[in-house]
Amino acid sequence: MCGIVGYIGKEKNALNILINGLKALEYRGYDSAGIAYFNKNKIITIKEKGKIEELEKIIDYSIESNIGIAHTRWATCGDATKINAHPHSCGKITIVHNGIIENYDDLKEQVKKDNYKLISETDSEIIAVLLNKYYEEYNDIIKAIVKTKQIIKGSYAIAIICADIQDKIYAIRKDSPLIVAKNENASFIASDVPAILNYTNKYMILNENEIAILTNENIVFLNDSLQPIKKKILTFEGNTIDAQKGHFKHFMLKEIFEEKDIIKNLIKKYNTIEKLEKKLGFLTKYDNITIIGCGSAYHVGIIAKYLLEEYANIPVNVEIASEFRYKNNFLNKKSLAIFISQSGETADTLASLRKIKIKSVDTLGIINVQESSIAREADKVIYTEAGPEIAVATTKAFIAQLIIMILITIYLGYKNNIITRDLLIELLTNINNLDKYLNQILNNSYKEIAKKIYQAQNIFFLGRNIDYGIALEGSLKLKEISYIHSEAYPAGELKHGTISLIEENMPVISIITKDNIFDKTISNIKETKARGSFNIVISNKEVNDSDVNILIPNINSILQPILAIVILQIISYETANLKGCDIDKPRNLAKSVTVE
Ligand code: GLU
Repeated sequence: MCGIVGYIGKEKNALNILINGLKALEYRGYDSAGIAYFNKNKIITIKEKGKIEELEKIIDYSIESNIGIAHTRWATCGDATKINAHPHSCGKITIVHNGIIENYDDLKEQVKKDNYKLISETDSEIIAVLLNKYYEEYNDIIKAIVKTKQIIKGSYAIAIICADIQDKIYAIRKDSPLIVAKNENASFIASDVPAILNYTNKYMILNENEIAILTNENIVFLNDSLQPIKKKILTFEGNTIDAQKGHFKHFMLKEIFEEKDIIKNLIKKYNTIEKLEKKLGFLTKYDNITIIGCGSAYHVGIIAKYLLEEYANIPVNVEIASEFRYKNNFLNKKSLAIFISQSGETADTLASLRKIKIKSVDTLGIINVQESSIAREADKVIYTEAGPEIAVATTKAFIAQLIIMILITIYLGYKNNIITRDLLIELLTNINNLDKYLNQILNNSYKEIAKKIYQAQNIFFLGRNIDYGIALEGSLKLKEISYIHSEAYPAGELKHGTISLIEENMPVISIITKDNIFDKTISNIKETKARGSFNIVISNKEVNDSDVNILIPNINSILQPILAIVILQIISYETANLKGCDIDKPRNLAKSVTVE
């Protein structure tokens, strides 16, 4: 969460570079934004509540500066106000911070005794206060950073400038991401690579317990013992075009339309038994699997559980990362722990990975962002290769995660003699041909369906088995971007209490893709209809009891979730669009949840 950018270079257009960088990171948070830069030997700070466009309104781009730090906030502590916006300053120090300082209350009490006045409600301000206190004490910024690092608890990526040192930016991090980059004219720091892609696609990763010191000539990295260290230079494969909307009204719609190409590209790498053996062969040695994720990644886990248990005969446990990290688990040497995360930085998923690694359980990351923390720290990684996802509500990264889990399922099903060689080859061919079915879906209009639900206060999503996993994701998508309250239920569970909420005309969206539970789900739909609900059914066979029936092409049931999910993504999009919601940046949300 939150986007940080820092620039120090020969050119004096820091304000422009920082604002452009922030815009590329706005998906990470958009409660408020701010910039601090040197001008006429002084640090000037400007900030504004709201999105970056609000900050832009008060920026004078004619002001020259060759060094500055910037921040777009996702508030964790203190309201989304101008005063709480970053950067925060104390004395000679100005900082921007991503993360949460957990012991800030105690620290604030301590510094108040030293007569430090705190202006904001944030946890972050204490960092500036401590840095300034120790800078005054030691007259050495590195010593002040080391001391502050020892005192603060929690997660952080921090960029620091000091009024006495006009040619350097300092950066540290723990549990929150930060990359560092350099071209012939400048040095940069950023929370994510797109912020600097206009200037270079080469970057380095700042590790925990390191300090980066940036000048316009070079970047020095110091390790824990303050010794200079060399860094591996990485290359970002995406481009800036990927992060543009093109002719689409929203990134979300563009990203839904990209799904078919992502599947096509992925399957090329897995489309023969030999390729599957090479890429997934290591998976055969486990007796049981635990899948850990948050939000949509957790829903991929739920769908994968049904798939793996049915088609590969492997017991699967699915855990929400924020719960898993604080509870007992029974994983052992025969277990594989799979961590699913788009960003590879999801704080709870990363913490769960670290918890499991201590037990020496084998770990696999299914990750979109290359070289992210989970990608680096898991024993094995499978990249979803969905490209940069800008819309906060995930669509294409979710589909790519699901495709990987389907490939794992059919490979293990084949190895466990449940899926025949012929069926495996047929399934691989069908995955390759999914684009045809997706084109059919994308050619349809779902606006009429959106018109039927966009004024609803509450909506139910129902499904059994895999369809329940699909219902969960459909419901989350709708909530995230249209702000309509919805709940997903296993279709048979509704009558155990929740059916009391059904009212006349309440939309109920049901998914039926599996033949063996078709009639059972129909019975549950009838139960809601008898109580006045308006029933939208997504199914591969006609359903007479529906008010609206969306038929999906009848392909192998292992692949049906993909088709149903895409339809639900578009229905959510059209509904939010009708309501005039800010689809790519829904209220209160941020992508890449790097706080717990
Ligand atoms: N905890 C800090 C705040 O609430 C930083 C939040 C962020 O990462 O944007 O200001």
